[in-house]
Amino acid sequence: MVLPFKHEPFTDFNDDRNRKEFEAALELVKGDLGKEYPLVINGEKIFTDDKLISVSPSNKEQVVGKVSKATKEHVDQAFESAIEAFKTWKKWTPKERADVLYRAAGMIRRRKHEFSAWLVYDAGKPWNQADGDTAEGIDFLEYYARQMIELGQGKKLVDHEAEHNDYFYQPMGPGVTIPPWNFAFAIVAGTVAAPIVAGNPVLLKPSENTPVIAYKLVEVLEEAGLPKGVLNFVPGDPAEIGDYLVDHKETHFINFTGSRATGTRIIERAAKVQEGQQFLKRVVAEMGGKDTIIVDRDADLDLAADAIVNSAFGFSGQKCSACSRAVIHKDVYDEVLEKSIELTKELTVGNPSEENFYMGAVVNQKQFEKIKDYIEIGKKEGELVYGGEADDSKGFFISPTIFKDLDPKARIMQEEIFGPVVGFTKAEDFDELLEIANNTEYGLTGAVISNNREHLNRARHEFHVGNLYFNRGCTAAIVGYQPFGGFKMSGTDSKAGGPDYLQHFLEAKVVSETF
Ligand code: GLU
Repeated sequence: MVLPFKHEPFTDFNDDRNRKEFEAALELVKGDLGKEYPLVINGEKIFTDDKLISVSPSNKEQVVGKVSKATKEHVDQAFESAIEAFKTWKKWTPKERADVLYRAAGMIRRRKHEFSAWLVYDAGKPWNQADGDTAEGIDFLEYYARQMIELGQGKKLVDHEAEHNDYFYQPMGPGVTIPPWNFAFAIVAGTVAAPIVAGNPVLLKPSENTPVIAYKLVEVLEEAGLPKGVLNFVPGDPAEIGDYLVDHKETHFINFTGSRATGTRIIERAAKVQEGQQFLKRVVAEMGGKDTIIVDRDADLDLAADAIVNSAFGFSGQKCSACSRAVIHKDVYDEVLEKSIELTKELTVGNPSEENFYMGAVVNQKQFEKIKDYIEIGKKEGELVYGGEADDSKGFFISPTIFKDLDPKARIMQEEIFGPVVGFTKAEDFDELLEIANNTEYGLTGAVISNNREHLNRARHEFHVGNLYFNRGCTAAIVGYQPFGGFKMSGTDSKAGGPDYLQHFLEAKVVSETF
């Protein structure tokens, strides 16, 4: 018997002891930087000559690790091993499979700061963001383990007098997990653990930006007793193996989190039945966001500014849930803008492996250039009122940036930037606030800051996003508390960390017997 799920607590970095422990973990991991990592296929460690070089976003000179690159032949081998492993893994009981996840969660918990320290170097995460990422990874393991045990009991059906009906779940077969770099531990853990605990072997292709922390997860799961071939680690160039993984005739599902462009490409390709393919592929795609915080006339304006600033600039806005649009009632617009600027002035930016800064660098040169371009666009479309500086001499640093007086249809207000940039716009009344909030192609998160119950009730039905928050920011969903996933071009609304998630990787079967 296990205790009911409760989320992993966050570390309080105001506590001196915690700070010291975290610094010690950073020191420990620093000593391990620059190592080489293999592919893992059928439990075998394979080192290739061609390597992905992962560097620290805050210090371009610092090599975090050199990770072997899989070729198409490696992918074929990984599928062979997954097919073989499936024969026995699917026969493990839900509890036996869940036990592997519980053990892995326990091991990670004991070395929590070490995992977070890898996130500081590999993904450039500030301390509290790294700590939240690791905690969420633990939560996914703990939560899906419990969910699988529950689903293992099947669902209730009605029996006839002389007929017994049984409804139960079975795994589908091998599939592919393609996670992002922005939750380089949590989303990797969640999108791997769910199909695996459901009984399906996985080929994991981590992001080229953060392959080292992904390898750390593979190591732990192996140590926790995952049989060989159930999780195969195949990092590589997306251009070389991305489509190949998706198109493969043995791919039963693709569990993807990342950009809209890649997600829609995967959906299109997965729809095509390949020669020899004997089933339809399923795609879970969690993609972008252009998330809005609405501030009503009757609202706590300090709370509003705090929600906007932390949702826009936490982890430099590199979350699909990040607030990139503040849509504010005209009567309180100036005050909320002023308060937001004041709060933003207090934010510190720097290398998080040296100090506990609020913000670090953005992930790589490409993102740095893209964000800089958007800042230039913003200067034409609205008025830059704070930030706008970019410096890539050491790492990819961009200051928290605020634009005001934007047209709701401006590019800054419509296109996903994935950086520390927020645009402010004003509206006449609550109708217009809602209309602007809904006028993008995305539908992931949103928040309403209001003391008007009628308005909150309207937003509940009319603000078209998968995760809607009242009187708080629009980021930081917690497993089991806020199952996560969006509408429209934000994805397939899979609701990661929720009660329906595992069904994406299971087939429901009904057996009826007359007697
Ligand atoms: N679940 C995260 C949040 O609520 C966002 C995940 C993502 O950016 O992919 O902030």
